[in-house]
Amino acid sequence: MPDAECQGHGRDILRLLDSYLRYMDNYGGSYRDDDDTLGDFRPLDLRETALMGFGHRNERSFDGVMRMAASQAAYGIDHELTDADCSRWPRPGDPSGRGSRSCSELFRPARHNEAVPEGDTVWRACQRLNDVLAGRVLTRSEFRVPSLAATDLTGVGVREVTSRGKHQLFRLSNELTLHTHFRMDGVWKIFPRGRRWSGGPAFEIRAVLATDDHDVVGYRLPVIELVPTASEDAVIGHLGPDLLGPDWDLDEAVRRIAAQPDRTIGEALLDQRNLAGLGTFYRAELLFLHGVHPRKQVREVRNLRRVVQRGQLLLQANRWRPEQSTTGDLRPGRRAYVYQRLGQPCRRCGTPIRFEELGPPGEERHSYWCPHCQPGPGA
Ligand SMILES: [Zn+2]
Repeated sequence: MPDAECQGHGRDILRLLDSYLRYMDNYGGSYRDDDDTLGDFRPLDLRETALMGFGHRNERSFDGVMRMAASQAAYGIDHELTDADCSRWPRPGDPSGRGSRSCSELFRPARHNEAVPEGDTVWRACQRLNDVLAGRVLTRSEFRVPSLAATDLTGVGVREVTSRGKHQLFRLSNELTLHTHFRMDGVWKIFPRGRRWSGGPAFEIRAVLATDDHDVVGYRLPVIELVPTASEDAVIGHLGPDLLGPDWDLDEAVRRIAAQPDRTIGEALLDQRNLAGLGTFYRAELLFLHGVHPRKQVREVRNLRRVVQRGQLLLQANRWRPEQSTTGDLRPGRRAYVYQRLGQPCRRCGTPIRFEELGPPGEERHSYWCPHCQPGPGA
């Protein structure tokens, strides 16, 4: 049988296809708004998306993969891969489209995602963790933080792994929840049993969870704690509506932001108590798309509801792939309108992009904008 990692990649492709088709359904192939956006949000290119998202650069073999994905999608998204499916998977670098490389090699993401994790990245990580842990019993656990040093979860089952905003929740069969947060550069890495761990030096490991099939290793996690599942609110109850949650509530998110009309919209969008999931990348891009300066007060933003709605759409569109793009272009250096483009010409008007640290003292976060497309406060 294809191994679990291979199955996981197969599911990723199907999900990618599914989310792409939904995306195209929603926007009819072009992304236009009747009033307030800058337009020209190019529809995602499926081929480009999958090529980049899965590090799969051989076009001939890519077509084979997509044909397989399409035929599997036709049979139902949950179809498990068979030996026959796996052997048909084309291999890169081989003109016949076949070869001997492993699936993990074939589908390794093209590059590390350099952005600080935002809601879509965390959501995707939790989906993958859930794939390998849900319904399994832990055969080993190890915590390298003082508060949990004596904790042993061996023999405990994992019910599910889910995200809430940028928080990760591992719900366990013993009625406890392992709560973690990535902050700037934390990460959970999944390794098939026997594979060498490769998420960083050993001293950066904070937690290890193992099943019969996988090792799941948490690197550089600044937040790691166990709480009763019934009391999860103690750690996530402060969060506003989750942009990628099943209970996403646009009205409530808008209400919370609007409740502080004197605040800058830039700060309000990053405040996870208003809405959970946005970071500096989406904030910058979202405000550019709506022509809103990050320092405008909430009261000055006339289309607040549409801004928030667009934030959710951007996360939805990006959640199944490692690269985040708001331009619809996944090539390096072309994924953003303003984020990390200080001094470079605005893609719309050519004006050099500006940068500052925005936020209350001690919580300043990177902010990018185009001074022409996003007129300042009062303008
Ligand atoms: Zn501009």
